[in-house]
Amino acid sequence: MLVVVRLMVQINDTIVGIATPIGEGGISIIRISGEKALEILYDIFTFSGELKKNIRDIQERKFYLGKVYDEKRLLDQCMAVYMKGPRSYTGEDVVEIHCHGGILVTKKILELILHNGVRLAEPGEFTKRAFLNGKINLAQAEAVIDVITARSDSALDSAVKQLEGKLGEAIDGIMRNIEAMLANVEADIDFPDEDLDLLSVKDMEALLEECIKKIDALIKEADTGRVLREGVNTVIVGRPNVGKSSLLNALVREDKAIVTNIPGTTRDIIEDYIQIKGFLFKIIDTAGFRETEDIIEKIGLEKSYEKLQKADLVLIVMDASQALLGEEHDFIKKIIEMKDKVMIIINKVDLEKVIVRKDLVSSIFPGTKVLEISATEKVGLKLLEEEIINMVFEGKLSPGQDYLVTRVRHKNLLINAKKRLEDARETISRGLAEEFLSIDLRDAWRLLGQITGNAVDEDIIDKIFSEFCIGK
Ligand code: GDP
Repeated sequence: MLVVVRLMVQINDTIVGIATPIGEGGISIIRISGEKALEILYDIFTFSGELKKNIRDIQERKFYLGKVYDEKRLLDQCMAVYMKGPRSYTGEDVVEIHCHGGILVTKKILELILHNGVRLAEPGEFTKRAFLNGKINLAQAEAVIDVITARSDSALDSAVKQLEGKLGEAIDGIMRNIEAMLANVEADIDFPDEDLDLLSVKDMEALLEECIKKIDALIKEADTGRVLREGVNTVIVGRPNVGKSSLLNALVREDKAIVTNIPGTTRDIIEDYIQIKGFLFKIIDTAGFRETEDIIEKIGLEKSYEKLQKADLVLIVMDASQALLGEEHDFIKKIIEMKDKVMIIINKVDLEKVIVRKDLVSSIFPGTKVLEISATEKVGLKLLEEEIINMVFEGKLSPGQDYLVTRVRHKNLLINAKKRLEDARETISRGLAEEFLSIDLRDAWRLLGQITGNAVDEDIIDKIFSEFCIGK
């Protein structure tokens, strides 16, 4: 069911959650949101200093020192702050208690609050309330997750821009145009005989074209946006012992993968996230390819194939001190046929030259990028990083450009909205009844509204907020 959610929500229960990761640290923050937040603070918090005399003199957005007691037992010395709604994260009254960052002490204070008639918050419920109370739109709520989980500079940049509401603004602009067209069409349907000052067919077509163009621009950047957010899926393949793990280690710059010189020991898949020039790469080190009777290795190979199919980039590693084998040649050829972005890396150039060298490999696989490196001697790695960035982004990345669409959900909605607007264009050009036009425009409007949350399914909202951690 499609609903305009903000109108139908009635939230009045008070929730509590631990906003910081559970563990030992400097401080833990326990957050309470809802009508009873301030009352709870009065109940469990003994203010030190001035406020002792009259706690109701509390000022919002000010830190107070005090103690939390459970009956007569002192639990901790804490700081507390009160943020009066709607000037708070959720838009409701919010209280935060900052206690010492121990697992037990945090849990004890949380339990004390729960015993005072407050409910434990569901994952993402604070942000969900912020959305339902109109503090942020749905795309901004999704950006909160992206800021928290960002693993590279570029992912963080685009998440923060989305958090500022840039995607919402772009979508809102298009929706306003659709609304203008809808008003026009419906006035014409409702009052066919009146002499209304309506848009001409030409004006409508121009407006439609403008909307389609804007959506198209957003769709075009979506793949890059996704890669920035999720990381470039990069698979490293090659015969056993050519130095795949060593290359991964050289790129990660720490010894996470097990490096060994017994062929075939990288049996399972090793994945690691690294940043190359500020961009996130998910590097997948696969089992070496070769015929094998070993069951574990076979599973590794099957998994490798799966990973290969999903890869954005494939790095094929060869050993400069070894001749090119027939099976190796066939495998490389297959990969080049299968994938767009493939790079051949000849490793161990520090060793005695044998047959596999750059010119030879280039002549066998024309058109494929070939680079020489030494993973252990750290030779050629800088150039390799540069070539990787060039290949993945094909020079399309311009500094300072906003990548607003980073989620598949948004991309799909944009694609469908564009289709509906194209239908509308067709309806006009074929001179069909205006009722059809109205339906097309409404559909496009609703689809776009699912990005910002203006018109959205309740299950979609639940699904989005289930991605969050508790306390957020
Ligand atoms: P993998 O099976 O392809 O993952 O290969 P490893 O990364 O485990 O490397 C196999 C062996 O080759 C190890 O002994 C590495 O130290 C060695 N090795 C890797 N890269 C280089 C290199 O650039 N030069 C030299 N001389 N040895 C290397």
